[in-house]
Amino acid sequence: MKIVIASSEAVPFIQTGGLGDVAGNLAVEFSEAKHEVILLLPFYKSIRAKAKNYSIAIKKKSIQMGDVVLECNVWLYQPMNHLRVYFIEYDYYFNREPIYDDGYNAYFDNGARFAFFSKACLDILVHLSFKPDVVLCNDWQTALIPYYLKCWEWKNHFFKNTASILAIHNISYQGQTDLSFSKYMGLNWMQVREDEFEALQAINLLKGGFFYADQITTVSPSYAEEILMEPGGYGLSPYLNRRKDDIAGILNGIDTKEWNPMLDHYIPKPYNHNTLKNKVFSKLKLQEKFLLKKDQLVPVFGFIGRLAYQKGIDILAKCLDDILQWDIQLVFLGAGDRYYSDLFGNLPKKYPGKVGTYIGFNVELSHLIEAGSDFFLMPSYFEPCGLNQMYSMTYGTLPIVHAIGGLKDTVENFDVKNNRGTGFAFNDMTEDALKNTIGWALHSWYHEKEALKKAQIRAMKKDFSWKQSIKQYDQVFKSAIARKKGWH
Ligand code: ADP
Repeated sequence: MKIVIASSEAVPFIQTGGLGDVAGNLAVEFSEAKHEVILLLPFYKSIRAKAKNYSIAIKKKSIQMGDVVLECNVWLYQPMNHLRVYFIEYDYYFNREPIYDDGYNAYFDNGARFAFFSKACLDILVHLSFKPDVVLCNDWQTALIPYYLKCWEWKNHFFKNTASILAIHNISYQGQTDLSFSKYMGLNWMQVREDEFEALQAINLLKGGFFYADQITTVSPSYAEEILMEPGGYGLSPYLNRRKDDIAGILNGIDTKEWNPMLDHYIPKPYNHNTLKNKVFSKLKLQEKFLLKKDQLVPVFGFIGRLAYQKGIDILAKCLDDILQWDIQLVFLGAGDRYYSDLFGNLPKKYPGKVGTYIGFNVELSHLIEAGSDFFLMPSYFEPCGLNQMYSMTYGTLPIVHAIGGLKDTVENFDVKNNRGTGFAFNDMTEDALKNTIGWALHSWYHEKEALKKAQIRAMKKDFSWKQSIKQYDQVFKSAIARKKGWH
């Protein structure tokens, strides 16, 4: 197949969260499966700063946005045989970071920025004479592509056989945009209706995207069900329900080369489930790095994630003073909301030797935390899939999770009696439930050592690779293409 992935982020180029992992991983997985793949990304400031061996592919390409014509350049990087990555350079929109907001508020022109990106993606494919079988669009940022494709079909036949897939990585981000941008985005009154792009007197890019997409995917089976009901649908469930037969919940996989305690060059000593005792070297390094008391016997609880409401950081923050009375250590790595950055950032001063915090995005530390912690905290209000719980289990670090979305699909509750489980899950999203679950993990740490070790081994043996999921994507793509070609 000829596959295009259009995304606002992708590893290893730019990432703010799981979308980046998934778009980047899928590009590699599809090309390793010998599909011909193009990945399209904006040329952000930090990508430009690191760009080596990139060549200019298209100069001064005109993109028509409503009445306006903008000119962009396109850069090419080819990391492997069947994969080409094109970067769209338009500094006014993309030479800024953070990429979506200034730390407090989303940029006012986000809708216009990514409408331009979406339009440019298709113009570039035409320029390259690359007729894809499928375009995989990701979240609101590229949700206009399914609509543009449909319009294009009427105008010329270039994309006549191209199926669009919209992947919903997180339905709470919908790309709400002021109606005044309609013309710029190429939307007219027919599209700016409640059925399609309009919601709450604004343009809702995600909503219109799933109206037009040939198929819809989301990132775990449970999340596929949750978004069809409120509050999981963040207001869009009635509209999404109209497409419910076209939604597939495909669990994300993880990059098993990047996240592998035997191959990880960020940790001091490799280990696997047969050499689990070597995990302690990572723990000691973690304690040293975060200025914690170096003590193998104290359990370390790690947290990595965007400091956003979704991650349950308010509940976690409320527990802190209580749980820190216990003999535990905490390590935080996160970036995002300024209030919580300050709150978590100040903890090491308040609890010296017991809490370590790093505010910012740091891949090296994220690996060390996964390997060096004993438990991993993920008390998310909702979690479309979640990757960190899978990384944790791979590293023998037992996750403590709210049983929802992808967390529910991947973490099995610890059960000493039946010798089962790979983590600790709670159902009520309350401070008490989280506190009690941390207490339960702590109890097991001190009193069920052997059972806990078995759980670690079970967790490490789990297969979270992309193998199964890629097969499911394959099926979804093929059925979308078949439908497009009118074979059904
Ligand atoms: P989400 O997509 O909601 O942010 P996921 O668990 O799906 O959550 O994916 C988060 C990804 O981003 C993981 O790979 C995680 O390790 C990474 N990540 C998040 N915050 C940081 C950070 N501050 N430093 C390094 N990596 C981070």
